[in-house]
Amino acid sequence: MLSTVFALAFFILWRRDPSATWIAIIAVGYFSSALGFFIFHFTDDPNGIIAIVLMHLCYSLGTISLVWGICARYGQPINHRLYIAIAVTGMILMIGASFGVDYNARLYTANACYGLILALGTQTAARKAGTELLDKAIILLLAIGTFQFFVRPLVAIMVEGSMTAAEYRETPFYALMVVSLALAAVSLALILLGAALTDQTKAVREDAERDALTGLKMRGPFEAQAIAMLNRARDKDVPVSVIVADIDHFKRVNDIWGHQVGDTAIASFGDLLRSTIRDTDIAGRIGGEEFCILVWNCPEEPTLNLAERIRARFEQLPIEGISDDVRLTASFGVAQWVTDEGYGRLFARADAALYRAKEGGRNCTSADGDDRPRAVVSPLKQGPDPREVRA
Ligand code: GH3
Ligand code: MG
Ligand code: MG
Repeated sequence: MLSTVFALAFFILWRRDPSATWIAIIAVGYFSSALGFFIFHFTDDPNGIIAIVLMHLCYSLGTISLVWGICARYGQPINHRLYIAIAVTGMILMIGASFGVDYNARLYTANACYGLILALGTQTAARKAGTELLDKAIILLLAIGTFQFFVRPLVAIMVEGSMTAAEYRETPFYALMVVSLALAAVSLALILLGAALTDQTKAVREDAERDALTGLKMRGPFEAQAIAMLNRARDKDVPVSVIVADIDHFKRVNDIWGHQVGDTAIASFGDLLRSTIRDTDIAGRIGGEEFCILVWNCPEEPTLNLAERIRARFEQLPIEGISDDVRLTASFGVAQWVTDEGYGRLFARADAALYRAKEGGRNCTSADGDDRPRAVVSPLKQGPDPREVRA
């Protein structure tokens, strides 16, 4: 009953966000486990081949789906063939064991099989699981689940001695197993439901913080994230640098080609930034056609190179709606963060460098402390002057 209700809850959450396939996989896992339990508990012949096969199929699908779903949440692929091989081997051994009267061999085979699947899955998930409390709880519960699959049948055999499947169903140990499995299933389900809800609220919040035109962070959320990054950099003693960029002569772009084309140019610049920076860096649109990037674990020199790379790519980039022989350009200011400096001061230094880049002729990059731009304006220049194009 519990597992069915959880399966339903996961299904509903998945319907709210169909892109989160991991939630659907967990729903399947809970539903198959419920079905497996139902078959074993209510069948007239728990030792019949059909009951064994059906139950084992359901439980195998249940445990495999559980680890598959959890690993999928962490972006870790699982080796499906290995898991299926374990399940099939388990099935053959269990059918073999069912010819004996004694239930112990089958009990241990089944538990070892599900335990092994959980153990492998726990190991795979743990490799990529985050450091948040929620992630740690998921891994811990998986590990406890694995542990009980190996220990429980041993205890059962020690306490109850030899027995048949029908006898096993009547033992207090079986009742204990049902309760402990239910507890494990409930705890894990609650944590996973929490994880699914956390993922969804996070996605909604991140969407609300994103600028619609470029998909980059808006100024406020960007600054909050930047401050958090500087705090992390201070704790870990990691260098961080900042790049401020501003598209050149943008008013003219609007004047000549119209606001719509101006928007397209801003969006293209945003795409360029997103595809150039690393996952660990953050980029935001801090003004109309002004952008800021915080570059993690990067001192000034390589940051200058990064800015130059973006600059060189942008001056080559055709923009939809703008004549093919014209390219837009942008200017860049770079500064390296010094420990204990706040975001405001760091930004101001980069912004001053940007100002020098503008003064130095635009389409170039300037570093904090330099009195003129480092990089000479490229031979391509800024394309024809838009005013001439109009003429
Ligand atoms: P400079 O080379 O000195 O930067 O010259 P500029 O013309 O780019 O000057 P400035 O940065 O001051 O101008 C920014 C212009 O960008 C002003 C505004 O009309 C335009 N702008 C701001 N936000 C948007 C937007 O969302 N879409 C469009 N199309 N234009 C915008
Ligand atoms: Mg500008
Ligand atoms: Mg500007």
